[in-house]
Amino acid sequence: MAELAKQSSVKLPRGAAPEETAEVRCSFCGGTGKDPFGVMSWLSNCCVCGGKGVVRVKAPYRPCPHCRNTGAVKTFTCTVCRGTGYVPRPAGPTLVCPECRGTGDDRGAPALSCLKCHGLGLVAPGKS
Ligand SMILES: [Zn+2]
Ligand SMILES: [Zn+2]
Ligand SMILES: [Zn+2]
Repeated sequence: MAELAKQSSVKLPRGAAPEETAEVRCSFCGGTGKDPFGVMSWLSNCCVCGGKGVVRVKAPYRPCPHCRNTGAVKTFTCTVCRGTGYVPRPAGPTLVCPECRGTGDDRGAPALSCLKCHGLGLVAPGKS
């Protein structure tokens, strides 16, 4: 029996490294696990972390520029980081997005994310 359990635990697909994730405090509710804006009810669970107060994000990560790491744009969950307050840090070299100057905001409508960098505030160099 012990032999069987051992075998099944090493059945990882080859080449596909397990995705790196990290647990961070939920920015949307500030770790309280409760709906920060009382949209449904002040007692209802945060829709981002499901009431846990922590969320898993892809690692490495950086604070989301679009919502200033708050997880919220006005009273909505940030569309860029989905409310976690963190976005994956791109691998390889990056430039500050010339369109939004790194703010991640659409210049005409700050509540919307920048179209060029998708709200990340960074773009890959050499692309235009
Ligand atoms: Zn939360
Ligand atoms: Zn965000
Ligand atoms: Zn941008």
